[in-house]
Amino acid sequence: MGPVLIAGAGAAGLMAAVFAAGRGRRVIVVETTTDGGRKIVISGGGRCNILPRALEPDRFVSDSPRPLVRRLLRSWPLDHQKAFFERDLNLPLAFEAESGKYFPASNRARDVRDGLVALAIRRGVEFQFETKLVELVRTDDTWTATTSRGRIEASAVILASGGRSVPSTGSDGAGLDLAARIGHTIRATYPALTPLICDPPVHGSLSGISLTVRLRARWQGREAETTGGFLFTHHGYSGPAVLDMSHLAVRSRLAGGERAVLRVRWCDLDAAQWTDALQAGTGLVVSVVARHLPARLAERLVVESGIPSDRRTADLRRDERTSLVDRLTSYELPWTSDEGYKKAEVTGGGVALAEVDHRTMQSRVAPGVFLCGEILDAFGPIGGHNFAWAWATGRLAGLSATS
Ligand SMILES: Cc1cc2nc3c(=O)[nH]c(=O)nc-3n(C[C@H](O)[C@H](O)[C@H](O)COP(=O)(O)OP(=O)(O)OC[C@H]3O[C@@H](n4cnc5c(N)ncnc54)[C@H](O)[C@@H]3O)c2cc1C
Repeated sequence: MGPVLIAGAGAAGLMAAVFAAGRGRRVIVVETTTDGGRKIVISGGGRCNILPRALEPDRFVSDSPRPLVRRLLRSWPLDHQKAFFERDLNLPLAFEAESGKYFPASNRARDVRDGLVALAIRRGVEFQFETKLVELVRTDDTWTATTSRGRIEASAVILASGGRSVPSTGSDGAGLDLAARIGHTIRATYPALTPLICDPPVHGSLSGISLTVRLRARWQGREAETTGGFLFTHHGYSGPAVLDMSHLAVRSRLAGGERAVLRVRWCDLDAAQWTDALQAGTGLVVSVVARHLPARLAERLVVESGIPSDRRTADLRRDERTSLVDRLTSYELPWTSDEGYKKAEVTGGGVALAEVDHRTMQSRVAPGVFLCGEILDAFGPIGGHNFAWAWATGRLAGLSATS
C-alpha cells in the first residue's frame, strides 16, 4: 500500500501528520516553504493563541450548511485538544482570563510549530520541504501526485494547503485551484479578519488609540455584532472587533453596489445613559465625554457633532446633545477598502463543506482525497477559533486517511 501524502505543513497538515503517523502508516508531508507552520509562528503576535475558551461553531462564517461546521468543530472536544498539547506535545498551556484565550505557557508560538514537527518526526513522518504539490491524478486506487521535485504514488492524499491569506507564509491559493481541478466546488474566496482602510485617513490623527467597543455591521440583510478591541491605525482601523466584522465590508466591496454599514458604540453607555451623563454633568462637554473615552477621541467626537470644544454642559442645546449621543452610540465608521489577503488572518469561502464527508473529511467527489483546515469553507472569529478548526479537521483527516 502506498504512503499517505499530506500537502502542507501548516496547523492542519501538521496535526494530520501526527495522527496519521500514529497509526503506523508511511506518511510523507510536502511543504512549499523551507520549514512550514509559518502562520503558527506569526500567530497571536508571536505568542500563538492556540485555543479559545470554548468551541463556538455558531460564530463561524460559512456559506455551507451550519450543522456541518458544528459537527466538524466538535469532532475533537476542547478538553481533548488541550490534553493533546499538554500531554502528547508536552506543551503546558496558560489561560488568559481577560481575553478568554489559551496560549502556550512559554508564550512562544514557535514552540507550537516546533513541537508538532518534532512529534511528527518521532512518529516517523517524512518531511519534504521546498516541495510543492502541483497536480493530482487518480488511477484506480492510487493518486499520482506531481510535485516540484518528482512524483509520489499515494494511497491517500490530505490537502492541507490553506487558503490565500498572507501568501508570504506559503499559502497562495494553489491548493484551492488544485481542489477545483479534481472536481470540487470552491465557494467564492475573500480576505477575512483583515484590517479596514479609510482613504483619505480621516482618523489618522487618532492613530494608536485603542479601546473596547461594540461594533455592528449590516449588509444585504446580513447583520453581525461583536464587542471587543478597536484600534485606530494610520490608514484606518484594526483590532479584534474590526477584524471580526471585516468580512461583511470585504464582501460588500467585492460585490460592488451597496457597501456594508459599520456602526460603533464607543463604550458601555447606551443613548439614555449618555443623555443622563450629559444632563447631569458639570463643566465642559468634552470633559464629561472624556471620563468614558480616550481624550483625543472624545474631543474629536464633540467637534464632529458641531459642538465647540469650549461648550459647557449647561449651555448644550438639545439638537447638539442628540447629535453627540448619536455619534457616541451609533457612529458610522467611514471606510473605503481593506488590507486584503496581505494582512487577512484567514480566507473566507473555500471548498464546499457538503462535498466533504463530515465523519472522515474524505472528499465526496475525489475518493482517497481528504481535506482539512483553511482550505475549507469556514472560518471563526479572532480568539483561537481558527486553530481549533485546523486542529480538529486536521486530526480527523489524519485518522481517517490511515484507517
Ligand atoms: C498574522 C496571523 C495571526 C494569526 N493568529 C491566530 C491566532 O492567534 N489564533 C488562531 O486561532 N488563528 C490565528 N490565525 C489563523 C491561523 O493561523 C490559520 O487559521 C491556520 O494557520 C490555518 O491552518 P492551515 O494549516 O489550514 O493553513 P496554513 O497555516 O496556511 O498552512 C498551509 C501550508 O500549506 C503549504 N502549501 C500551500 N500550498 C501548497 C502546495 N501546493 N504544496 C505544498 N505545500 C503547500 C503552505 O506553505 C503552508 O505551510 C492567524 C493568522 C495570521 C495570518
